[in-house]
Amino acid sequence: CLTVEIPQRTLVVLCGSAGSGKSTFAHNLIARHKNQGLKPTVIVSSDQCRAMISDDEANQFVNRDTFDLFHFIIHKRMFQDRFTIADSTALQVEARQRLLALAQRHHYHTCLFIFNIPPALCIQRDQQRQRLVGEQVIAYHTNLLQQALLDAPKENWNQLHILDEHTKVELAFLPN
Ligand code: ATP
Ligand code: MG
Repeated sequence: CLTVEIPQRTLVVLCGSAGSGKSTFAHNLIARHKNQGLKPTVIVSSDQCRAMISDDEANQFVNRDTFDLFHFIIHKRMFQDRFTIADSTALQVEARQRLLALAQRHHYHTCLFIFNIPPALCIQRDQQRQRLVGEQVIAYHTNLLQQALLDAPKENWNQLHILDEHTKVELAFLPN
């Protein structure tokens, strides 16, 4: 079990392929920390933002508005000093930079979790769910993931954790 010590004013950024288990991880994490006041609303999900504006979690034609909304909510949460988990693939360097810059504007602590999950497992998990992303997208994401694993250590994250399919994470909030 990996214990991650973070301040309340932290932006956790999830990074990984479709089907790597990011959303499941986020929901399990907040469920385990319910007694510390974490609610499902700490998770800001790009897919939920997509659904909010288009009624379709998979609509790729509304990317720009989806991410405007995604960043806007995160920005407003940081104004309120709320602990926040950004749930998107964050596989592109630009996506990570935008989140990192936003957090730095608010003097937030930044914590990046990279989901280093074998593509075969992502594909298998993808096939078990309602909204299928497909093997081609996961293959593309796997390439981006390899680049993210190389790039992220050179980015200015306060914390970087690389998770595999066995890693259990526990949060320990530091006193303010
Ligand atoms: P996307 O980027 O497409 O939103 P995701 O990374 O959020 O994908 P999830 O939706 O969390 O992935 O998980 C994909 C599928 O795999 C789900 O059906 C989920 O129940 C299953 N899954 C996730 N994590 C695990 C796990 N640790 N063990 C078994 N199944 C899992
Ligand atoms: Mg998800």
